Amino acid sequence: MADIPTHSRLLLDGRWEARGAHLPVVAPWSGEVLTEMALGTAGDVDRAVALARVAVGRLGTAGERARVLDRTADLLVRDREHLARIIASEAGKPWRAATLEVDRAVETLRFSAAEARTLGGASIPMDAHPAGDGVLGFTLREPIGVVAAITPFNFPLNLVAHKLGPALAAGCPVVLKPAEKTPLSALALVERMLEAGAPAQAVQVVTGTGPEVGAALAGHPDVDVVTFTGSATVGHALKAAAAPRAEVLLELGSPAPLVVEADADLDAVVPRIAAHGFGHAGQSCVSVQRVLVHDALADALVDRLAEQVGTLVVGDPLEPGTDVSCLIDETAAARVADWIAEAVAAGATVRVGGERDGATLSPTLVVDVPRDVRLWTEEVFGPVVAVTRFTTTDEAIAEIAGGPDLIQAGVFTASLDTALRYVRELRVGTVLVNESPTYRADHMPYGGVGLAGNTREGPAATVRELTREKLVLLRSGADR
Ligand code: NAD
Repeated sequence: MADIPTHSRLLLDGRWEARGAHLPVVAPWSGEVLTEMALGTAGDVDRAVALARVAVGRLGTAGERARVLDRTADLLVRDREHLARIIASEAGKPWRAATLEVDRAVETLRFSAAEARTLGGASIPMDAHPAGDGVLGFTLREPIGVVAAITPFNFPLNLVAHKLGPALAAGCPVVLKPAEKTPLSALALVERMLEAGAPAQAVQVVTGTGPEVGAALAGHPDVDVVTFTGSATVGHALKAAAAPRAEVLLELGSPAPLVVEADADLDAVVPRIAAHGFGHAGQSCVSVQRVLVHDALADALVDRLAEQVGTLVVGDPLEPGTDVSCLIDETAAARVADWIAEAVAAGATVRVGGERDGATLSPTLVVDVPRDVRLWTEEVFGPVVAVTRFTTTDEAIAEIAGGPDLIQAGVFTASLDTALRYVRELRVGTVLVNESPTYRADHMPYGGVGLAGNTREGPAATVRELTREKLVLLRSGADR
């Protein structure tokens, strides 16, 4: 791309530093090399963490930090098209979704600024206890320390904003390692934070590979919090290897279910599955993957969905009319195609799609999927929706409850009583009624349970994760 440097750099102590070793960043749709990404090392991580360590609690006043976040948001608005082009190119994300991601990152930063302005402690009614008579108590919220942030490829701007925005609001310096397939959006965001006046100590960026830079950062003894968004395999491994002092916050993936009860409104359901099962080629941690449909509506749903999925425009992510583009690389597409073949061998039917060309897989609707194949039991992270039928609400709830740990689950029903059964009985991060499990507004508390994640993101939730309460007790002279 014309306005992207041919070689990217690391950011250490406010200065962009070149490195001798590089990894090409390739546009998955066109094959164009967008840049040569500087490969940082474990030594760079040591330096970055040391720089961050001395900056804990020294990133300016809450008001100054809020103004930087608001100004950064303004700069994202100014550069919306440019940033969308970076996202679309490096992640293969269709243009409309890429521009939406920029808009979402703006909101993430503005909500982070609001947190910086309003975060406070609490007063404790010490005299409610006999021992507390004469003691005044209140809490301060203080930055937890050095934050190590490791991010995935699929939302290369907004998920970085979800790390950097709340951390600056909380007063925590960050060492960031963005995904090696999509570092350009992260670097572009950090450039704008600096332009907006962020102190040099607020963020260090060490680009590089997961096994080298990611592992060195996640296991560093001087890091206080590791905040990781990515695959469950990597997340659980780095939690096990983290330093004893570090808290490890995990935002992972899961095969999101959407239940269509017998009284659901198909006019609401069908377009949502088409948009949320295939947008960004299904590469969202809450893409609609598993549709459980009541027998009474199953044939109608599948017919209508098949028709709509067949009209999705597959193509170049930079074309405004594209609905679905390629996956992040050919290996990913080949894996997804294998999972489809496995389901078919076990008795499922491909109703639409299923053709692969390099990294591109046509939007695929697979019906009558047995419940013991990977397409049903694991996160597919591709443009595939699997459908099975059920006959009773008990059966649908048992199927979800007995399956993998989840982030979000959606149910469509006209009955309040039925909806409340799902709300009460599902152990998930979010139950969405008459909305798909892909829905997310960036300020809401968002995250999984069990193996799908152990934290909540969204600026208000994250700022609380990244600050600690310190209790202050005052006994006045008269009461001593
Ligand atoms: P990934 O786990 O392969 O990589 C994520 C990050 O971890 C990258 O920066 C990578 O370089 C780094 N990494 C890889 N190996 C490492 C190691 N050994 N030590 C430390 N770091 C290492 O994930 P991905 O393919 O980039 O992203 C897709 C996954 O992310 C999916 O599973 C998806 O569900 C999940 N995701 C979750 C959320 C959420 O909010 N819950 C959001 C987006 C994506």
